[in-house]
Amino acid sequence: MARKIVVVGSSNTDMILKLNRIPRPGETILGGEFVTAAGGKGANQAVAAARAGGSVTFVARVGQDMFGEQAVAGFIEHGINVEHVQYDAAPSGVALIFLDDDGENSIGVASGANGNLSPADVRKAETAFSTADVVVMQLETPLDTVQAAADVAVANGSIVILNPAPAQPLPDKLLEKISILTPNETETELLTGITVTDDASCNQAADILLGKGIETVIITLGARGAFVASPELRQFVPGFKVEPIDSTAAGDTFNGALAVALADGVTLAEAVRFANAAGAISVTRMGAQPSAPSRDEIDALLDREMLVAANGDVAKHEPHLHMHTRPREVATAPNGRQ
Ligand code: ADP
Repeated sequence: MARKIVVVGSSNTDMILKLNRIPRPGETILGGEFVTAAGGKGANQAVAAARAGGSVTFVARVGQDMFGEQAVAGFIEHGINVEHVQYDAAPSGVALIFLDDDGENSIGVASGANGNLSPADVRKAETAFSTADVVVMQLETPLDTVQAAADVAVANGSIVILNPAPAQPLPDKLLEKISILTPNETETELLTGITVTDDASCNQAADILLGKGIETVIITLGARGAFVASPELRQFVPGFKVEPIDSTAAGDTFNGALAVALADGVTLAEAVRFANAAGAISVTRMGAQPSAPSRDEIDALLDREMLVAANGDVAKHEPHLHMHTRPREVATAPNGRQ
């Protein structure tokens, strides 16, 4: 199955300096350990969708520098179509991250080329939109570009996912074009003024967002999973139990996988379960893009949970959802292929 996905968004290089503590202004601390990692919400979601089995076209801008070249090489390695990734005169987006021994961080971001991704760039990619099942966007590129992507996606009949991150207020004319909005708890609070703590507050926040013309709201709730709300459906879809190591890009992995499952044509609840599985695997590994699981890994986790449910261990608190997106032998899956 083709599962055609267009992702419009940012690409950054994360430069992480691990120190025993974060330097104060004017201070120099020696003895750090330096790591670079491919990041940026758009790129993370594009890679997550490609790993989950999507045929992905990425619409983005990077600089004409080493970071831009490395980023594009990474996209190509993941099988992403880079026809609409352009080299910009501005430098590639970078995030400088100090990380201390307690996991506390201090981050500065220079958006660089991401800030020049324009509505014209989106329109140039219209052929890709015309065959896309799902279009995915976030908020690390200019808002008029996000609006243009939503307009073009709707005109072409695609499902439009907006991951409203980093959190910022959004105009109604954008929200009314969105098929699926995927805020986390912080973003939900910023958009609705409601702190989501339980079923009642999730419902209340969802009512506000659905009232703006969004078709479906999926509030991601970290380890707890996600709450799904549309006019016909209110459902909590529980997360998978894992040992978390690094939660970076859990939301990005969730969104990339969600796009692929929806392109497969499964039900909303099944798609969220697939995305929960992908997000859960990603938190068991370090980094953003390197932590995105493959299709086989996601399927293996879903199969394992289904077998456990069939044996009665979790059947009491897990809803019965059937994630058969393609035929396979459930009985051979529990050992998990990598
Ligand atoms: P963000 O990374 O944007 O803050 P969340 O923390 O809500 O988003 O995580 C997104 C999704 O990733 C969750 O809905 C869930 O499916 C999965 N996830 C995140 N943290 C965990 C965890 N500790 N255990 C299992 N799944 C997790």
